[in-house]
Amino acid sequence: MEKRPQLDIVLCAPRGFCAGVDRAIQIVELALEKYGAPVYVRHAIVHNKYVVDGLKAKGAVFVEELDEIPETEAPVVFSAHGVPKSVPADARSRNMFFLDATCPLVSKVHVEAQRHHAEGHEIVLIGHRGHPEVVGTMGQLPEGSITLVETVADAEAFQPQHPETLAFVTQTTLSVDDTSEIVAALRRRFPAINGPHKEDICYATTNRQEAVKQVAPEVDAMIVVGSPNSSNSLRLVEVAERAGCKVAMLVDRASEIDWTRLDGIRSLGVSAGASAPESLVDEVIEAFAQRYEIKVESRVTARENIAFNVPRELRSVSVQVA
Ligand code: SF4
Repeated sequence: MEKRPQLDIVLCAPRGFCAGVDRAIQIVELALEKYGAPVYVRHAIVHNKYVVDGLKAKGAVFVEELDEIPETEAPVVFSAHGVPKSVPADARSRNMFFLDATCPLVSKVHVEAQRHHAEGHEIVLIGHRGHPEVVGTMGQLPEGSITLVETVADAEAFQPQHPETLAFVTQTTLSVDDTSEIVAALRRRFPAINGPHKEDICYATTNRQEAVKQVAPEVDAMIVVGSPNSSNSLRLVEVAERAGCKVAMLVDRASEIDWTRLDGIRSLGVSAGASAPESLVDEVIEAFAQRYEIKVESRVTARENIAFNVPRELRSVSVQVA
C-alpha cells in the first residue's frame, strides 16, 4: 500500500458552539419536545445549514417573516441573532405564542442602546449592514436613532448631529482588530464618545479569533468549519489570512474541501465558527485521515465555562437523545 503523507493537525480551542448557539438550538429542541411539531422558527435559528436541516427533520419550520406562518397555536421561536422590537409586537397582535432565542449577549447590546437613547445620546452601531443582528439592534429604537458605521472610512466620514452626546455599540461577531480600528477612529474624532470599555464583541468571537491568530502563522493551511452566512466563521477565515496563513478555507462539510488548494501541505490548523457543531469538525478530520497519516494536537488558548438558561416555559422539559 502506498505510504500516506504525514500531516500535523492543530485543533484550535475554543472552537465551535458558543453558549448562545447552544441555548438557541436547545430552545427549538425543547419546544418540539414539549409542544410537538411544527415549531416555527423566524430566520435560521443559528447560521449553520447542518443545524437548520437537522431541526427541519425534527419538525421545525423556518420562515423569514411572521406573515408566512398560518394562524396557529404552534410556538414561534425568534433566532439567536435578535429581532427588532416590531417583531414581538407583531407576534402579540397576532396572538402568537413566541419563545425568544436571542442570545443574552445580543440582548445586552439592545439594553445598552436603549440606555444610551434614554440618556439622550446619539448612537453609532458598528456592524455589517443587513446582518440580522444589526437589523435587530437598530430596530430597538425609533428609525433614525442609530447610525450604522461599517468601516474606518465610515467612521472618518461620519457627521453626527450632536457630537457632544455620542455613544457607540457594536455587533457581537465582528473582527476584533477591525473593530478596534473603527473605535479608535471614533474616539480620536470624538474623545467624549460613550461606549463599552472596548466593544461589544462577545467572549466566543474573541476567543475563537485569538486561537486562530495564534495557530495560523504556524501552519500551511487553515480550515474553518462553518456556513458562508455565519459572520463569525467568515471573520475566522480573515483572521487566518491576515495572520499569514497562505490557504484559509471555509467549509460547511468535509465534502466541500478543495483538495487542489492543499497540495503539499504538512501542517493544518482547524477551527469552527460559533454555530458549527463538533460532529462536522470530526467529519473534516476523518476526511484528512483518509488521505494523510495524521497527528492531532489541540492548542488551548482560553477556557470557556459559560452557559445560558433556556426560557422558563422550557426549563422542566428534557430532550430525548435519539
Ligand atoms: Fe451569543 Fe456570541 Fe454566540 Fe453570538 S457568537 S450567539 S453573541 S455567544
